[in-house]
Amino acid sequence: MTTLEDCRALDAQDPLRSLRDQFTLPPGVIYLDGNSLGVLPKAAPARIAEVVAEEWGQGLIRSWNTASWFDLPQRLGDKVARLIGAAPGEVVCTDSTSVNLYKVLFAALSQQKDSGRKLVVSERSNFPTDLYIAESLCRERGFTLKLIDASELQGPGSVLTDEVAVLMLTHVNYRTGAMHDMKAITAAAHAAGALTVWDLAHSAGAVPVALNESNADYAIGCGYKYLNGGPGAPAFVWVHTRHAGKFDQPLSGWWGHAAPFEFTPHYRPAPGVGRYLCGTQPIIAMAGLECGLDTVLAAEAFDGGKGGLAALRAKSLALTDLFIALVEERCEGQGLSLVTPREHARRGSQVCLSRGEGAYAIVQALIARGVIGDYRAGDSQMPDILRFGFTPLYLGFEDVWNSVEHLVQVLEAGEWKREEFNRKNAVT
Ligand SMILES: *Cc1c(COP(=O)(O)O)cnc(C)c1O
Repeated sequence: MTTLEDCRALDAQDPLRSLRDQFTLPPGVIYLDGNSLGVLPKAAPARIAEVVAEEWGQGLIRSWNTASWFDLPQRLGDKVARLIGAAPGEVVCTDSTSVNLYKVLFAALSQQKDSGRKLVVSERSNFPTDLYIAESLCRERGFTLKLIDASELQGPGSVLTDEVAVLMLTHVNYRTGAMHDMKAITAAAHAAGALTVWDLAHSAGAVPVALNESNADYAIGCGYKYLNGGPGAPAFVWVHTRHAGKFDQPLSGWWGHAAPFEFTPHYRPAPGVGRYLCGTQPIIAMAGLECGLDTVLAAEAFDGGKGGLAALRAKSLALTDLFIALVEERCEGQGLSLVTPREHARRGSQVCLSRGEGAYAIVQALIARGVIGDYRAGDSQMPDILRFGFTPLYLGFEDVWNSVEHLVQVLEAGEWKREEFNRKNAVT
């Protein structure tokens, strides 16, 4: 049996424990929802205030040059690149994940338009916005969206046939925390003649990603989850250099023009990933995103400047292993089942538990106790889910112990049955 003292000893030995000092966390809160909205970096309020008061207030329009506003999408993109196995110049930060998906999927479909291939394949359990964007784009461009289960991707009878134009997957599943083998699946897709689009919303800043090594084609990801960029922070987009200068994205705004300030009447796309920009960027939001990126890159000090993810990953797995072990030791007979894969190679940075009854109310009761996780509704294949994200930047082993202690109390006393915990809010 693991004890509270064991957890405290793990914290005392944790080389990353000082990284928590980069954040402002409300007292009494154990935050297990950094996979949905990362926490506030301590540097962000002052930096955002400076951008507002100095760069906007005093610098005014001059700040596009003097404060380097103009280069922000590329400069922040280079920081993201270090976290996802990409090279400098291959990533831009801009727009939302949904909008970026539209752009890269459009480009991938353009690339396949004369191939005779008509299918876009994705997982039934993918995040809905990805499926909604793909659905409308397929309709518009004459493709068909085929939804599958992950098990249909490999082996004999794989859905990856010569009819598939694009395989569009989210690397770590938002609901189950299951992680795909990006390299193997990309190779299988390429062998079948398909292109790959990877959504890194639950991967960037959470697990090591190797886009170039995996030979992926297109990728997008989110700035406000594990990257701590703030609510609605700009997202990012990466395109492999073999495609980046070739395929146009559909939102051909002036910021993606080769020379926007020549104000010519016709569009000429910028070389490389720069063409994936559309219009004027949200500079204040970009400042928040940069503070968030810097909190993750601070972990580079612990892995010899390699982006920090190796060090963060080791701690993340230790935290999720501990959470799983404690739940299994202490919540036996309480109707909880582990949904997230046990195998490290298949696990993201979250743990999901399913329960036939009361999942929503249990999460609400935990939130009332300061343990913030979230709930995701089940479907025909899976019961409702309690979802706990583990961000090694600011969580320790004692936090894991305490969160399970609260869960035990909520379950054993039937606290979750109280009426106040069973009323649904608009955002779950
Ligand atoms: C969070 C998330 C998004 C979010 O998209 P927005 O455009 O930022 O709302 C998209 N895809 C996946 C897989 C996500 O997890």
